Amino acid sequence: MIRINEHYLKLQASYLFSEIAKRVSAYQAENPDREIIKLGIGDVTRALPRACIEAFHRAIDEMGEESTFRGYGPEQGYLFLREKIASGDFQSRGADIVPDEIFISDGAKCDTGNIQEIFSTDIRIAIPDPVYPAYLDTNVMAGRSGAFQDGRYQGILYMESTRENGFIPDIPNEPVDLIYLCFPNNPTGATITRDRLQQWVDFARENRALILFDAAYESFMRDASLPRSIYEVEGARDVAIEFRSFSKTAGFTGIRCAFTVVPKTCMAYDGNGQKHSVHALWNRRHGTKFNGVSYPVQKAAEAVYSQEGRAQGSELIEYYLKNADLIRKEITALGFECTGGKDSPYIWVEGRRNSWDFFDLLLTKAGVVCTPGAGFGRCGEGFIRISAFNSFENVKKAMARIKEALAG
Ligand code: PLP
Repeated sequence: MIRINEHYLKLQASYLFSEIAKRVSAYQAENPDREIIKLGIGDVTRALPRACIEAFHRAIDEMGEESTFRGYGPEQGYLFLREKIASGDFQSRGADIVPDEIFISDGAKCDTGNIQEIFSTDIRIAIPDPVYPAYLDTNVMAGRSGAFQDGRYQGILYMESTRENGFIPDIPNEPVDLIYLCFPNNPTGATITRDRLQQWVDFARENRALILFDAAYESFMRDASLPRSIYEVEGARDVAIEFRSFSKTAGFTGIRCAFTVVPKTCMAYDGNGQKHSVHALWNRRHGTKFNGVSYPVQKAAEAVYSQEGRAQGSELIEYYLKNADLIRKEITALGFECTGGKDSPYIWVEGRRNSWDFFDLLLTKAGVVCTPGAGFGRCGEGFIRISAFNSFENVKKAMARIKEALAG
């Protein structure tokens, strides 16, 4: 008899985005002439940088000639891309990362979701609340939690991000083994200072724990004093894995390219306390289960590091940050407290009412879609997330409508 992995039965239905879609389509059916502006889901809207498109075309042409055709590439990614990443994203900022420590993949979602399988199922996990849902659900699937009770999975240490702690979770006052951190944060838009990140790294070192640092929104940081990578912090090489993505940096959500950095000095332990290289384990997993990102996609990603690619990429980011600025200013002017929107494309707004009520109010009175914070965890209740991914014209229109709706 074929049996299922019963841990899947503990999972809560992916309620958030399906419930949003349901409410939006019901409203649209009743108001067919109303133009709805979507500032909900975190997907980019602007076209790919020209430099990426040109590199993509050239690579496709190479695939059409026998002399330049390529089949399977290295599972870990082509060296031409790994070298550009190591020097452009890390060495240039004083972070000692070499190409061999970079694994190219088709998304940070897959990597942040898959990485847990190289660790024991009986480790103690610390996960922020609110949180990007993939970290939590993949651990539930693997059997690292108990049942879902009172809005939380048993056995997981939830690290609360609240207004009181500036949306930076406090360091746990008990030992944990695997810690998920995400900065700039989705959904709160909060960033972390170098000193605070150093405290996390020190905590991980003291506890022989490992930090999984999701930096998918790193390119939105304008404040030069903030660390862009955890490896800018002393000692992080031994206790941290970093995830990055071209999705938001260069508009690759539909192209799919990301990477994970696993330093060779990063160690984890077996039941006898014996050290093992996390790099070797991930390399084994990646080589066994993944066959590499396509050559044209990696060529397009490489172009992000060219002079034109850099200029076009930062133009994209500046465009979204201008939207974020406007949202933050307008929301603040309306008397709401918010975080994010400065070094992040997300604005986390304290609605002073139930998340879903605020969502419904914006949908029905303003025709604007946001994301109810409660969908990201218990600490998200009372908040909404507004995303800056849309055209400036639409954002302007959305904010004018919200102003009118809340005034009326
Ligand atoms: N990590 C965070 C925090 C995200 O918000 C997202 C996407 O929204 C991802 C990872 C996934 O990125 P990718 O498109 O590379 O899978």
